[in-house]
Formats: sequence, structure tokens, C-alpha cells
Amino acid sequence: MADDKKLTTRAADFSAWYNEVVLRSELADYSPVRGCMVIRPNGYGIWERMQRRLDDMFKATGHQNAYFPLFIPESFLHKEAEHVEGFAPEAAVVTHGGGKLLEEPLVVRPTSETIIYSMFAKWVQSYRDLPLLINQWANVVRWEMRTRLFLRTTEFLWQEGHTAHTTHDEAEEEARRMLGVYRDFMEGHIAMPVITGQKTDAEKFAGALRTYSCEAMMQDNRALQAGTSHNLGQNFAKAFELSFQSESGSTEFAWNTSWGVSTRMVGGLVMTHGDDLGLRVPPLLAPIEVVIVPIYRSDEERSKVLEAANAIVGSLAEWAGRGTERIRVHVDAREGMKPGAKYYEWELRGIPLRLELGPRDLAANQGVLVRRDTREKRPVSLSTIGEDLAETLSTIQREMLAAALDRREAHSVRDHITYDRFRELMEGEGGFVYAGWCGAGACETEIKNDTKATIRCLPDEEFRSADAPTTCLKCGRPSTVEALWAKAY
Ligand SMILES: [Zn+2]
Repeated sequence: MADDKKLTTRAADFSAWYNEVVLRSELADYSPVRGCMVIRPNGYGIWERMQRRLDDMFKATGHQNAYFPLFIPESFLHKEAEHVEGFAPEAAVVTHGGGKLLEEPLVVRPTSETIIYSMFAKWVQSYRDLPLLINQWANVVRWEMRTRLFLRTTEFLWQEGHTAHTTHDEAEEEARRMLGVYRDFMEGHIAMPVITGQKTDAEKFAGALRTYSCEAMMQDNRALQAGTSHNLGQNFAKAFELSFQSESGSTEFAWNTSWGVSTRMVGGLVMTHGDDLGLRVPPLLAPIEVVIVPIYRSDEERSKVLEAANAIVGSLAEWAGRGTERIRVHVDAREGMKPGAKYYEWELRGIPLRLELGPRDLAANQGVLVRRDTREKRPVSLSTIGEDLAETLSTIQREMLAAALDRREAHSVRDHITYDRFRELMEGEGGFVYAGWCGAGACETEIKNDTKATIRCLPDEEFRSADAPTTCLKCGRPSTVEALWAKAY
């Protein structure tokens, strides 16, 4: 194929590579509105599979879906002091409707705490009405100055969970539970390993008591915050008079949580798994898992091979070895296109498996199966094709996670590095650095100004170093906690 069709390599320019992969694999396109994006069917198909699985997980943990308006009265945003400070600068505000100046401007939701808790206040009277466990699938708008497809766009799609509880501990348990759900999904489906932990006060959600996050390492060794879960305490309950009568008859404010993940995860998928040939989609999220490419020289061969391909599709539709989740297969029957050009296109799009089918293969009752992740190629018998495909797909899913985990660990530093070495690392190849922190905001700010690295989280126990540093990376005073440092998207 022509050189001009080759992608920029990751090593040459990771950022250019990312944009090319997103555009050329037709995940998304730039929109006429600056900072917004159009999600194309290839990208939306991945998002739909993410949504479906997450929605099942939310419902299995007791949540119900509801929908709240896109517009929020501007005064609502001002009711919680930290919240307005955090979100007002990036708010889109509607001042006119129906050709008239509105009495009160309306904010296009940047997040829905304010409008949702104003409604919860109406619905909750007694402790018997709690817990209230709601999720919303929606779009939100944040007026971003610097945007990148999927990673940071003015409008994006997400889900936001909002819950109300009778006690602090119950809200804390909920915030942690949903962080765990996110981690399970990201590792189990996106094959993207994450570090979970608590955000520092400087990095927490505007209006939260505590914020927890999932942090993944991209292939340029930067961190991507892939999901957050907040214990909101009683801040919003007080602002919106969300109170209830307790079992003993007293009136108390409820305890809230909120948690969200967005189309940003699609960007995370690309930057975790993509290679210099394009996308690599984990099978569980691939709208098409297997593409069959027929190979032929004559019309006669073509009809024979296509007939066999369609027979395979038919047999897979009936094969129930994977329960109700049938293998998603597509036959690329396009005419006037060489097999090589088709291979190139499906590789760019990251379809996990390709089955090449030619007359000679058919004579031997076999096809040639090619893995997108490793490009390993082997003959497969058509008699046991369902079992073989299903097993290979689950192997790919597992090995993609293992490869991403290996790469993350290879670029993680836990050996008590000096501040000079840390600066050097952040200027160069980057990575995840586990280091001591004295807890002072001043050290956090100075490091950020010096190196652009931030504390991604204070890692949960299972991620902490066995031999954690005892002094602060910056000031050398005793460390109160181990922090995970990285440059981030
Ligand atoms: Zn310090």
C-alpha cells in the first residue's frame, strides 16, 4: 500500500497518531461547532457496548435510570459555594428563548447535582424514602478552551449516578462500591488496568467531601482519569434542603454521592491498545468481533466462497456455546476491492479477528484466522469454528489486559527517587511515580508548576508500595501518605 496511507507512528508523535487513528478508523469527526465532536457509527458502536454493560452493572447494584432537564436555573449553581466556583467559568448560559430575554438565565448542565438534589428534596420526606439510587445517561456541556476528540470536548456523553443516604458511612460505602464497579468494567471490558485511590483536596470535585478516581496509564506514559466517584457529604443536601425525618423523629440532612464515566473512555481505549496500524478493540467492546474476508479470482470462485462465508454466519447464529451472546460476525463482500485493502481497513478499525476464506481453504474445510492484537495467523477447522472463535476472543481479551498491565508496571517507579531524577523523568519519558508526600498543598503546587505532574491519587492500599518512602518527594519532611504522581490528560 502507498506510503501516504501510513499512520504517523506512536514513537514519532503520539498526539498526531491519536488524532489520525480516531479520524481514519472513523470513530469520530470534528464538528462545525468548535470543540464539539461527531461520534460516527464505529465509535458510537463501542460507546453503546460500554453503556449496555455498565447499565447492567448499575442495575445489579440497585440503581434505576431517570432523566432530568438539560437546562438548570442559574441560581441553582450558586447555592453551593465551591460548586459554582468550580463550574461557573466553563458554563454555557442561555439568556434568550423564543426571541425574548429570559427572566432567569439557564445554564446548560455541566453536571446535574443541583437540579437532581432539588428534586430529591421534593421526593424525600422520611428515612423510609432512602436510600435513593438514581442514574442518568445524558450529555453535558463544559466550555473548554483546548479540546481533543473524546478526551476533552465541549459537549460529551456520560452517565451520572446520584444517590441519597441516611448516614455518612452508607454514602461512603456507595461511593467506594461504584468506584469498584468502574474498576471492574475498565479492567474486565476495556482491558485497561487502573489504579484507584482518593484525590487530594486540590484535585477533588467542586463541592465534594472526598473524590475517588480510576487512573489509567496511556502508551505515552501519561495518566488518564477515566472515572470518578464522590462522597458529597451533606453539602448539596444543605444547599437544597434535602432533609428527612429519621427513625427517632428528628430532622436530618441526607448524605449524597455522585459518580460518572464518559465517552472519554473511548479515548482511553484507543490510547491503551492502539498500535502503528491503528485501533485494537477489546473483543467485549467490539461491535464486530470477527470479519470474514472472502478470497477469489473468478466469479465462480466468488459465489462459492461467499456461500461458504454465509453458511459460517448461519452456523454461528445458531451456535449457542456463548449463551445468548452470539459471536458478532461480518462478511466483507465488497466487490472491486483487493483482500489486502480490506485487511488494511479492518486492521485500522481494530476488529479483533479476521477469517480469510479462499477456495483452497474451503477444499480443506478450513479458514485462516488472524489475530489483530498479535497478528498471529493460523489455520482453523470450519467444523469447530464457533468454539475456536469464542475461545480465541476470550484469550485476546485476557491477553490485552495482561499486556497493558505489563506496560504500566514497566513504566512505574517505586524506588524512592530523588526530586532531580523525578524532574528529569517527567521532562523525558514520564511514567507513574509513587512517592512520599507531606500532605502540604504547597509541595503539590510547586511540583505541578515545576514539572506539570500532579498527584493523580493517593492510591488505595493494594496499590501502595511495600516499602513506601518515609519522606516528602519535594520538601524532605516526613511523609504522611504515599502519592501517585504523573502528567495527565
Ligand atoms: Zn512536602
